[in-house]
Amino acid sequence: MMNLNMVAPPEQSNMRILVTGGAGFIGSHLVDKLMENEKNEVIVVDNYFTGSKDNLRKWIGHPRFELIRHDVTEPLLVEVDQIYHLACPASPIFYKHNPVKTIKTNVIGTLNMLGLAKRVGARILLTSTSEVYGDPLIHPQPETYWGNVNPIGVRSCYDEGKRVAETLMFDYHRQHGIEIRIARIFNTYGPRMNIDDGRVVSNFIAQALRGEPLTVQKPGTQTRSFCFVSDMVDGLIRLMEGENTGPINIGNPGEFTMLELAEIVKELINPKVEIKMVENTPDDPRQRKPDITKAKELLGWEPKMKLRDGLPLMEEDFRLRLGVSKEK
Ligand code: NAD
Ligand code: UDP
Ligand code: UDP
Repeated sequence: MMNLNMVAPPEQSNMRILVTGGAGFIGSHLVDKLMENEKNEVIVVDNYFTGSKDNLRKWIGHPRFELIRHDVTEPLLVEVDQIYHLACPASPIFYKHNPVKTIKTNVIGTLNMLGLAKRVGARILLTSTSEVYGDPLIHPQPETYWGNVNPIGVRSCYDEGKRVAETLMFDYHRQHGIEIRIARIFNTYGPRMNIDDGRVVSNFIAQALRGEPLTVQKPGTQTRSFCFVSDMVDGLIRLMEGENTGPINIGNPGEFTMLELAEIVKELINPKVEIKMVENTPDDPRQRKPDITKAKELLGWEPKMKLRDGLPLMEEDFRLRLGVSKEK
């Protein structure tokens, strides 16, 4: 029987949420999830360097959604309650393309978003990266590890840029009392990844579908751990809504060598393609796997999607975009 003395929970008030980099791969999936809640109003700012309006097509014109072309290295005036700060190219070929711009995006962009958070009293979440651990000497990597990063290498604009962004977040927190959240994201994959962004999962799937050799960069024994994008988005929202500043690793601890990954893609998508060894790029981390004890304990989060289940979902999306139908 209904308890008539029960007090109805207070109406959840509307939440205005800014997502920088929301036209990108992870950002657009995050927007999809945030838009599911009718109490959320979502503002995306993006300069479309690596993202695209196409990723947000279904929300354009929606009354609770707004898309603004804007570069986060310029000041931004909006009134919001939460900021998910993702804006930054994530793929090595894009972040190395204009390294000075990558640093500006990480440093000035994060400074601007913190200035905005300070002015309006918003909570801000930064998507940092496992790259802050560099070529790690501790395995798997816990958040307490300070990393092994080359400060003057070709990846430094990204690694060191994110390290400064984390420092800025903590200094604004300590100096100005800003509510911060830092996620250290490990390699993420899924539908809507840029087809030609050079990242390993997108490369292998596109190559398998085009019937081209899978290019494993030497030595092929280097490892990565791949998290499906829906798990990632779930982790980011839990972190934002929880009480812990982080940094917290969000990633899937399933670890694979690049040769193993190539074998799996070949088996699942196109057993006829060859695997070809090619030259690697400088400072490639030799191993990477998140220690997600903190995410489990503090956020009650762990990834659900296994690589062998996630790859076919990405394959489906790549088939559509590449116009390659499945052989009967
Ligand atoms: P993405 O390149 O698809 O998305 C980044 C978005 O930011 C794009 O839409 C791009 O146009 C936008 N952007 C870039 N510079 C900007 C600027 N100066 N002003 C405004 N917008 C700008 O990358 P992603 O994979 O979705 O990554 C999102 C975030 O997650 C990034 O901060 C990235 O560093 C972090 N991250 C991603 C991974 C991964 O495996 N995908 C791993 C670790 C960390
Ligand atoms: N900023 C912004 N939007 C705001 C408030 C600030 O983009 O709503 C930018 C501002 O232009 C500055 C940065 O955030 O470059 C840091 O702002 P803060 O107020 O912390 O520092 P100050 O302006 O005093 O340097
Ligand atoms: N890699 C590869 N073949 C490719 C692209 C990448 O073997 O076509 C390797 C690369 O050397 C690295 C790993 O895959 O060891 C992950 O590279 P990616 O650029 O996807 O992400 P990173 O973790 O290096 O940022």
